[in-house]
Amino acid sequence: MTKRPTGAGPLVGAHMSAAGGLARAVERAVAAGCRTLQVFTKNSNQWAGKPIVPSEAKAFQRAAAEAGLAPLVSHSAYLINLASPDPVVRARSADALVDEIERCDANGIPFLVLHPGSHGGEGEEVGLDRIARGLDDAAAKTPSSRTTILLETAAGQGACLGHDFAHLAAILARADSRPRLALCLDTCHIHAAGYDIVTKDGWRSTLDALDSSCGLGLVKVIHANDSKKERGCRVDRHERIGLGQIGEKGFVNLMTEAAFEDVPKILETPKDEEGRWDREGLAALRKLARRKGPA
Ligand code: MN
Ligand code: MN
Ligand code: ZN
Repeated sequence: MTKRPTGAGPLVGAHMSAAGGLARAVERAVAAGCRTLQVFTKNSNQWAGKPIVPSEAKAFQRAAAEAGLAPLVSHSAYLINLASPDPVVRARSADALVDEIERCDANGIPFLVLHPGSHGGEGEEVGLDRIARGLDDAAAKTPSSRTTILLETAAGQGACLGHDFAHLAAILARADSRPRLALCLDTCHIHAAGYDIVTKDGWRSTLDALDSSCGLGLVKVIHANDSKKERGCRVDRHERIGLGQIGEKGFVNLMTEAAFEDVPKILETPKDEEGRWDREGLAALRKLARRKGPA
């Protein structure tokens, strides 16, 4: 990885719509002042996507490179559930994950964020095993891929796995495809899951828990989202930075954390028509990065 120029500020960006083509997402990111960018490479609510067009993929990579956007991140479709009790859905999910991996490779995107999945009432152990097998299945079908799959921390709604760092550790331990896996930390989700990231002591012990279960070095992307709901609610409702229950205090912890200095922080927060909320969110993260960090 190339060392970023000093004075360029923290490595922050946002999830941007790719409506009109992936190159349009780059334009939106530049307009907002992003240094890094997350996209969907296909419709996030459908199984099938349009075929990859090599010329479009090339144009996207060129535009992103010219704009200095790096690293690029893709978020996989929401329908994918490797832990589903239904074998048909599991097979479909593994195939869809293969497609997502291939889209990342075609578009020069090194990181693919994936929700671990929901066990649908069949229990955590069965679900965690199924996720590991699904990851191995997709990895076996993409042997030459350069894409790293990032298991995202979950809020813990319903039977969704990944709200406890131990779930992520179990998946990593059980998957033969372990070298191709890493983590995406979502601040809204871990707050909703019950981890304290607002107080300084809470932040430290949350990071210690993550470090001892999985290793902090595995965190390759952070979703910087405030939370509308209180800690431990197990409900996933994103809020703009500083306006929710995590608040400026929590984001000072994040933005001044030495262990995460080189980890991209990406907004997935509510947007307005003009893109002003994204610009404000990024400005807030930059401002909080200059505050005195946790003692
Ligand atoms: Mn997500
Ligand atoms: Mn997220
Ligand atoms: Zn979320």
